[in-house]
Amino acid sequence: MSLEGKCHCGAVHFTLNENFAQIAACNHSICHRLGTLWGHGPIENLAISANAGTTPRYSRGDKNMALHTCKTCGWQPIGKI
Ligand SMILES: [Zn+2]
Repeated sequence: MSLEGKCHCGAVHFTLNENFAQIAACNHSICHRLGTLWGHGPIENLAISANAGTTPRYSRGDKNMALHTCKTCGWQPIGKI
């Protein structure tokens, strides 16, 4: 099953081809503050469509994880480890 959607402002579109077995809350400080829930799966199963520079990367500390957020509305479609 495929799920398609977009961020609140419409700048970022996504197609997800993954049926997550679990959705999890995370104890990263930023995830905790935002109330983010994560589904884990192969990155190949997520297609993001956005203009260059629309989803700037944010990482901190040991930089082993990067978050990409819509710079207009703040929607956070992806975190890469
Ligand atoms: Zn947006």
